[in-house]
Amino acid sequence: MIDLRSDTITKPTPSMLEAMFGAPVGDDVLEDDPSVNLLQDKIARLFNMPAALFCPSGTMTNQIAIRINTSPQDEVICDQNAHIYLYEGGGMMLNSLVSPKLLKGSKGRLTADMITESINPDDIHRPKTRLVALENTMNKGGGSIYDFKEIIKIAAVCKKNKLKLHLDGARLFNALAESQETPSDYGTHFDTISICFSKGLGAPVGSVLIGTKDAINKGKRVRKALGGGMRQAGYLAAACTYALDHHLDKIKDDHRRARILASAIENLPFVSSLYPVQTNIIIIALKPDRSPQIFLKKLEKKGLLAIGFGPGLIRIVTHLDFNDKQMEKAIQIFKTLE
Ligand SMILES: *Cc1c(COP(=O)(O)O)cnc(C)c1O
Repeated sequence: MIDLRSDTITKPTPSMLEAMFGAPVGDDVLEDDPSVNLLQDKIARLFNMPAALFCPSGTMTNQIAIRINTSPQDEVICDQNAHIYLYEGGGMMLNSLVSPKLLKGSKGRLTADMITESINPDDIHRPKTRLVALENTMNKGGGSIYDFKEIIKIAAVCKKNKLKLHLDGARLFNALAESQETPSDYGTHFDTISICFSKGLGAPVGSVLIGTKDAINKGKRVRKALGGGMRQAGYLAAACTYALDHHLDKIKDDHRRARILASAIENLPFVSSLYPVQTNIIIIALKPDRSPQIFLKKLEKKGLLAIGFGPGLIRIVTHLDFNDKQMEKAIQIFKTLE
């Protein structure tokens, strides 16, 4: 079975497992797990930011970021399809007592002008605008990449209006693989950044939140309250460090395969259109007479898994456990589909 449901389905390689088994560990709640400390230092240095915090999931790093950057009753500006709004179980309302202001970005990307227009006036009727959260790459936008020039403009709007700026960078390394910018360019413009190791980087578990020392100290308290303080977490952190050292270069292969797949699929009879393919995500809009449920069942019968992604939409994602041979097979499966 070829599994293209998500880039989260990858399993650790034998050498990643070896790195995990051999990791020196301690009690990370007591802050003396050397493998967790190593990962946190390494990623903070990479982004040229003061500190980082290892967490079990990207949902938790995002939720912690929202919590430490806001107060109850505040408002968070994000795209209407942002992961923090759509896919985190209503967490910002539950954990931080804040409301989202949902904007209609272009393939999920906001502009500085849109943000300027949606900052609330100082009026007791209105929640206080406090945080802007961007997502790069943007999952629901088909792995779309922000233009870094726009990010600089957005950061300036935030500074001018005393808003915090958070990046949901679950797939930031996918964006970086296709751009000129470095991680430290991102570190310069955001207050907090969340990075996932369990997506394109291929680790089994783990995300980090990166920010100032003060932000990360506050974040540590929130992580504890959310039940995210882990003990010998170094076994997991070692997988993430291994991924940083060995898997970053492979992301471009995922993108190359996504482009080849997309060009093989785009003119097939069931396709109405494809979202622009910039990274490892392909979103297929089916012809109106095609039911996604039936389409997915047919695909599965032929040996390929994909997922439904909203009305008439199918998502496929390339990843570390998908090679050129499987790609050829996948193309054959799509081509022989009725
Ligand atoms: C996967 C993902 C997350 C985090 O998800 P977890 O499953 O909680 O690790 C956050 N943001 C985006 C855009 C994602 O794709």
